[in-house]
Amino acid sequence: MSTQIETKCLHAGYEPGNGEPRQLPIWQSTTWKYATSDDMGALFDLEAEGYFYTRLQNPTNDMAAKKIAALEGGYAGMLTSSGQAANFFAVFNICEAGDHFIASSSIYGGTYNLFMVTMAKMGIECTFVDQTLPEEELAKYFKPNTKAVFGETITNPTCSVLDIEKFVRLAHSHGVPLIVDNTFATPVNCRPIEWGADIVTHSTTKYIDGHAVSVGGAIVDSGNFDWMAHAETFPGLTTPDESYHGIVYAEKFGKGAYITKATAQLMRDFGCIQSPQNAFYVNTGLESLHVRIQRHCENALAVATFLKGHEKVAWVHYPDLPDDEYHELAKKYLPKGSSGVLCFAVKGGRDKSIEFMDKLKLATIATHVADARTCLLHPASHTHRQLSEQQLIEAGISPDLIRYSVGLENADDLIADLAQGLDVI
Ligand SMILES: *Cc1c(COP(=O)(O)O)cnc(C)c1O
Repeated sequence: MSTQIETKCLHAGYEPGNGEPRQLPIWQSTTWKYATSDDMGALFDLEAEGYFYTRLQNPTNDMAAKKIAALEGGYAGMLTSSGQAANFFAVFNICEAGDHFIASSSIYGGTYNLFMVTMAKMGIECTFVDQTLPEEELAKYFKPNTKAVFGETITNPTCSVLDIEKFVRLAHSHGVPLIVDNTFATPVNCRPIEWGADIVTHSTTKYIDGHAVSVGGAIVDSGNFDWMAHAETFPGLTTPDESYHGIVYAEKFGKGAYITKATAQLMRDFGCIQSPQNAFYVNTGLESLHVRIQRHCENALAVATFLKGHEKVAWVHYPDLPDDEYHELAKKYLPKGSSGVLCFAVKGGRDKSIEFMDKLKLATIATHVADARTCLLHPASHTHRQLSEQQLIEAGISPDLIRYSVGLENADDLIADLAQGLDVI
């Protein structure tokens, strides 16, 4: 039975049988027992399906991942210990030393550091591009060893909207997949795979959890990218894996190749597993995601409209505002609303923005975003502190930018809080 996204939030991934628990159980076990040595050997050879050790797979994790994959319209999914691990695995699964990939320069600061500093140490080079450039300009950044293109549906913290179809055309015309971090939009508001993206990642720490209780990540593969058609570009998927008795992932697992490789190889070796307890929170968060996201967006639009009209506010970026520079892209890719995150600055520059933040009483300063409670931070002083002035400019982060993540409180209360803060500066 095909169902709508709201129904999938509740029912996908775990379907209890007769007399089984109604809620997704937590398999709080590191290991599984088997009757014979051969039974377990078949699992190690990837010849049989089943569980043997939680670092590789755990039913609670798998069922929560299956729900996220269903919501994204993907073929298969997996959970990781964090959003950072998800983005690292997503790229490292197809890039190795000597390879190159392209990422939008407007991405989350943690991802920027991962790609620019840490992956460079592994011999993987990333070129950061201005995602608003025309296609012909962006095409110039491809090299013979380019293996992937990466962007965020709605960028953290600048709230720009990625032109997913433009990036799909660019990636595919160069024979590589597009990876999209869909954390802010969530599958309720945008499903990049429906627009042609190949792989989707999440920091489940944000809206999917929604209550600031668990750090986690997810990767979903569409199953649509034809690795075999680009066999020479992706030897990790199309030639024998010596660490698995010569398995060729793309041949043996077809549409499941990418996630199977990421699980069998990367999770085996790096061990960035999400705890089953956290996977349970993720699943619980997903059950109400569609209701929460709608309210986040309604509240954010009310707050953005108020700020836009206030004389002490220098500027506001929120894609759902009709005169926002990303409104056309938002209407196309995010017709139900973008997210609860907006950014703005008060008049008077960086110091005034910081002074204003300290005056708020309801919204709290927190290194978090996309939470049920309204929170805010100053990227230039916090999440993007490691970036130079030049890198901040390239990432589109002006020194006065305040990232304001609208929660589920009453919008009038949030506006009153902002109004009193603006009054006293
Ligand atoms: C927070 C975030 C990440 C990193 O996720 P963690 O769960 O904190 O590791 C990656 N991408 C985006 C867009 C984020 O907002």
